[in-house]
Amino acid sequence: SIPLGFFGGIGGASKSGILIKGSNFLEALNHVKYVVFDKTGTLTKGVFNVTNIVPKGELTAEQLLEYAALAESYSNHPIAQSISAAYGKEVNKEVIGKYEEIAGHGIKIEVDGKAILAGNKKLMTKEAISFVEEAAIGTMVHLAIDRQYAGYIVISDEVKEDASKAIAGLKALGIKKTVMLTGDAKKVGEAVGQKLGLTEVHAELLPHEKVEQVEQLDSRKQKDEKLVFVGDGINDTPVLARADIGIAMGGLGSDAAIEAADVVIMTDEPSKIVTAVKIAKRTRKIVW
Ligand code: ADP
Ligand code: MG
Repeated sequence: SIPLGFFGGIGGASKSGILIKGSNFLEALNHVKYVVFDKTGTLTKGVFNVTNIVPKGELTAEQLLEYAALAESYSNHPIAQSISAAYGKEVNKEVIGKYEEIAGHGIKIEVDGKAILAGNKKLMTKEAISFVEEAAIGTMVHLAIDRQYAGYIVISDEVKEDASKAIAGLKALGIKKTVMLTGDAKKVGEAVGQKLGLTEVHAELLPHEKVEQVEQLDSRKQKDEKLVFVGDGINDTPVLARADIGIAMGGLGSDAAIEAADVVIMTDEPSKIVTAVKIAKRTRKIVW
């Protein structure tokens, strides 16, 4: 039978906006030593602002932004939303033909019969388009039109204030490693890692490589140590499922992510993980 105290713990957690899908996960939270975070939308706000538009051809900045907005018009990635917001107008979807979104890369789309690519350096490399590898501080979205490089848009995200609180709280609880995994560029990842004082950052990862990183960390654990993965559910469902405790966060998460997660945080505050571990420890004292 399940000790009654566990229900108190789960109930208490739910009042704090933390849904724990079973007493085994509440117990496991006592043994967390590795906390692995996704970046975008988890440690950062996931609300990007366009900070620079740099055409490298005949297009004006406004035209480059319009192509980007068209390319992103079917995507629900935070990058897509920020580009649409910067464009600020409805795009004419009638001109859009074939469309494909490639996880961790970007978009391939037909606009007015032209082949448009919008994405990161992995997409450009994969499609053999030479591009400007400038040291912009921010996430670069490169564009190519009919295989001609057309320029790039720089967008910047901000670290959540609550993320610093989360990392400090985890350290105070004796967590061994606070790790961030991201599909974004190394420069961007390292800046966030430094700002938050994370112990490890792994960047430029595809969704399946995030799973591999979790597996590697997992193999470093000692017996009885648990690994948590925290993500916003965009492209990280496989990692959520692979971790000892998968935590889905915020309103952005998909149904699939909520399904794959063991714990769901209803707000967008990563510091709720600290709350969850504290509730687990308190519950344990009552049960044993
Ligand atoms: P993160 O790991 O930071 O949550 P993702 O795995 O969702 O990020 O995406 C990784 C990278 O892939 C992004 O930083 C971006 O460069 C590129 N990318 C993904 N989706 C898009 C998109 N819709 N448009 C442009 N670039 C994209
Ligand atoms: Mg993500």
